[in-house]
Amino acid sequence: MAADRDIRVRFAPSPTGEPHVGNLRTALFNWLFARHHGGTFVVRVEDTDQTRYVEDALGVILESLRWLGLDWDEGPEVGGPYAPYLQSQRLDIYHGAAQDLVDRARAYWCHCSRERLDRVRKERQHDGLPGGYDRHCRDLGLSQHADPDAVPVVRFKMALEGETAVDDLIRGHVVWDNGLSDDFIILKSDGFPTYHLANVVDDHIMHISHVLRAEEWLSSTPRHLQLYDALGYEPPLFGHLPMILGPDRAKLSKRHGSTSVLEYRTLGFLPEAMVNFMALLGWSLDDKTDVISRDDLVKSFSLERIGKGAAVFDLDRLQWMNGVYIRTLEDDDLAERMLPYLGGDGVVDRGYLRRIVPLVRERLKTMADVPEWTSYFFKEELSYDAADLVQKGMDRDSTVGALEATLRVLEGTGELAVEPLEEGLRAAAAELELSGRKLFGAIRVAVTGRSASPPIFETMEVLGRARCLARIAVAANRLEGEVAGSTDRVA
Ligand code: GLU
Ligand code: ZN
Repeated sequence: MAADRDIRVRFAPSPTGEPHVGNLRTALFNWLFARHHGGTFVVRVEDTDQTRYVEDALGVILESLRWLGLDWDEGPEVGGPYAPYLQSQRLDIYHGAAQDLVDRARAYWCHCSRERLDRVRKERQHDGLPGGYDRHCRDLGLSQHADPDAVPVVRFKMALEGETAVDDLIRGHVVWDNGLSDDFIILKSDGFPTYHLANVVDDHIMHISHVLRAEEWLSSTPRHLQLYDALGYEPPLFGHLPMILGPDRAKLSKRHGSTSVLEYRTLGFLPEAMVNFMALLGWSLDDKTDVISRDDLVKSFSLERIGKGAAVFDLDRLQWMNGVYIRTLEDDDLAERMLPYLGGDGVVDRGYLRRIVPLVRERLKTMADVPEWTSYFFKEELSYDAADLVQKGMDRDSTVGALEATLRVLEGTGELAVEPLEEGLRAAAAELELSGRKLFGAIRVAVTGRSASPPIFETMEVLGRARCLARIAVAANRLEGEVAGSTDRVA
């Protein structure tokens, strides 16, 4: 641990598409590490590859971070809320670094034409030589350049011999043979730096203490280490996070379902569940604990408990976890979060929704189930088959009679309350010589349009007397219409 310097970490997304679970897992681990140590979490957008830039990707990245509650602590301007750092606005800094490397003969201008580079790459591939470039311009003076008209790039002089090694915080000691390396480009012909240069320069300038990033970047680390050395910078510590696999053990991809993290919001997952779930993609508290609150994650997060082995993305586990979080939210909180799934503020009444919450909470696996499980509380007209009102062992006449008796009970009371309502309806059932099952079954269909619902008296209490009266009257009318010989099935 870098006990002698402040913990400063960063999430450095490239806006090349919508961020997936793997990207946000990297962000989360950096955020947790920063919060655990009281350090600083920086978001730096690595938008120097103009060819891969995707419009709107940045907006989705930032929205994903906000949704998950991964707040960052700095930006190019003073005072929050901060915009992230954007590398495309820092080009002068990378130009300066590239020039400095050229001046000190650690990098060089390469004027090779595209044709030459293509030919050399093919030849080297054919001859089984490492790297795609033959270092042609490495020791040429500018005047001797192959094609002085070709738009030049700057290449970095990688060491030709020896080894480059890193003590990775997660993967341990990793060594690379320098003989296999390539003089890679650090400044492109369009004037933009490559990822390698901008990444190293910024990690230095931003005093990044720990680089925690996806395993796919491990192979870039020798380039980065040699760049740090050439620039005279002290490198940060590195930790490469384990891969995430789909349930079929192939690298997680679109094939495994929704990839953009925000799609999980649309699908009705709570950010709490998502954070908890993602924290366990490569990190664990112990060998058994599944449900860990955000606060507890911050308290217990450590690099020591990040595994080397690939993590497996298990959608069933996420679904299960989401149910756990839905069941533990406070009623008011859950009601607020249900609002957007019901058309938002102003469409439904908050007080009414708040009373619905305890009745439906247990049935919700995701927030996307909200409309389905609450629809009959809001609909003006229920759609059901009138025949469903008729319970087993009853006929239409007796059902109409039962519904009319129910109307009389409701007409004789004030606002509905569970206990008197149950008493009144049980008495009515006894008078009609009907079992509770039969009477309440008919009422259930009449007031909810379904044969399964939350407890019927509680449901009626929340629906309120007026709605129940109206719905039961409609149900009785529908059936009477049918008894009178109408073939018109009420839909
Ligand atoms: N821009 C790189 C990415 O998209 C950052 C890799 C790193 O963290 O060094 O993942
Ligand atoms: Zn060249």
